[in-house]
Amino acid sequence: MPNIPAYLEQFTQANLEEIILRDRSLEIIKELAIDNLCLLEGIKNGIIDLGQPLSEKELRTLAGEVEEKVKDFLGVSEISPYQVSYNKFWNGFPDIIDIGVGVYAIAGGTLSAFSPNRMVPVLGCTAGVIAADLLTRGWFYLHRKKTGASYNYIEKKIYLNKETPQKSAASGLAHELTHHITRDKWGKLPKELCAFEEGLARGAEQFYMYSYCQKHQFDAGYLIDCLKILNEDLFVAYLWGCSQRGKKIEGFEVAFEKIEKMPPKRRTHCVGTAAFALLEQQYDLTLYRQIFNEELHL
Ligand SMILES: [Zn+2]
Repeated sequence: MPNIPAYLEQFTQANLEEIILRDRSLEIIKELAIDNLCLLEGIKNGIIDLGQPLSEKELRTLAGEVEEKVKDFLGVSEISPYQVSYNKFWNGFPDIIDIGVGVYAIAGGTLSAFSPNRMVPVLGCTAGVIAADLLTRGWFYLHRKKTGASYNYIEKKIYLNKETPQKSAASGLAHELTHHITRDKWGKLPKELCAFEEGLARGAEQFYMYSYCQKHQFDAGYLIDCLKILNEDLFVAYLWGCSQRGKKIEGFEVAFEKIEKMPPKRRTHCVGTAAFALLEQQYDLTLYRQIFNEELHL
């Protein structure tokens, strides 16, 4: 298989899907989804305080705390430097500026050499570069805003939306930091391993938020975000598995239709979450450390 580290071949999306489609798997996913839903409904009945958005400095301090816990959970001692920032229009993907300046220099230079009036091509190029830079920045800004928390592999940077409350920020940091650590270990991975990366990140995020919930007198605010996502992912994976195995459930026709039309990327996330939830049942939480040490063999 192209570009897949040998150890990770066992974790391709096709292999994780196969784990979900095993005989007992769908029943286990359904039980986990129902347990999770009961917990979520119980929490929703209480008062949930997600905290206030943090300053950029406080966010970086929180990232340091999250990093220590997540590194310990994954059994990783050293990681490469990374940045944490709120999503801002002017703060992101500086490579674009370099590309813009390069294009400007080449195009402006070439046109100036052939033009009778040197200012016309120079001004035209300047306007073009500024417009391209603004449009590209705008696209990246809106894309990151829609995603919520994200990790940019080229910049080695975690982005969060500015209005993210404190407890959601902790959850986003744990997830995105795991993406950073995974890329640190194996480099940029092909799309066949996207479900694997998401499963790892979801597992570390849940572990971190559960341990933080305990540390803060079982404050449910720490759990709400990851439980909501886990809930949705497990139900989607369950229904997807049922449709793959030809088990249609009465009353769920609309849900089945939605899942068939779901973008592949979204389904990939659900496959990763559900497969790792199953693996946690089979092994235990040490499975994450074992994977990072390349010791676990399915
Ligand atoms: Zn992710």
